[in-house]
Amino acid sequence: MDYYSSQISKLIEELSSLPGIGAKSAQRLAFHIIHMPKEQVQQMATAMVEARNNVRYCSKCYTLTDKEVCPICSDAARDEKTIMVVETTRDLVAYEKTGKYRGVYHVLHGAISPMLGIGPGDIKLKELMERLQGDVNEVIIATNSSLEGETTAMYISKLIKPTGIKVSRIASGVPVGGDLEYIDEVTLLRALEGRTEL
Ligand code: ZN
Repeated sequence: MDYYSSQISKLIEELSSLPGIGAKSAQRLAFHIIHMPKEQVQQMATAMVEARNNVRYCSKCYTLTDKEVCPICSDAARDEKTIMVVETTRDLVAYEKTGKYRGVYHVLHGAISPMLGIGPGDIKLKELMERLQGDVNEVIIATNSSLEGETTAMYISKLIKPTGIKVSRIASGVPVGGDLEYIDEVTLLRALEGRTEL
């Protein structure tokens, strides 16, 4: 039974398709939106559409950006011979917030997971190997300490070893299964500084 008008039901349905938004939250958000000033709703809708239309992968590090090359890769002060490999753009942001890392990144957009059927070809691994044809001193693997993150780290280190490029892994101490973005900056810095060569 449709308790509301079909337009309200449609809004609730759309919102509940978002991650972490259950039926109750979707209903609360829908009513909040309906009571917001029209201009504010328009701004929000425009921000969603523009972000979706204009955001793409950086042509160098594959982070999400609205430019051909992201601000980090275009920053001449960054050390582009040190590449930190992370699973997601959110992880990159977590490291950037420490303000201490001066190298560049490579965003894999996932991790290898045989259980979920995600193989090396499903993440930006080939793109990483292509970057390593250039002048690179060190690759720091900062994938999560989950099973998938560790599997990916092992796989990458095996691929890179023969090239002679130094490969290191951030120190454990990052809680197992912990998403990097939820870990505080001090812990992240310690993990980075305590990295060990593989
Ligand atoms: Zn970039």
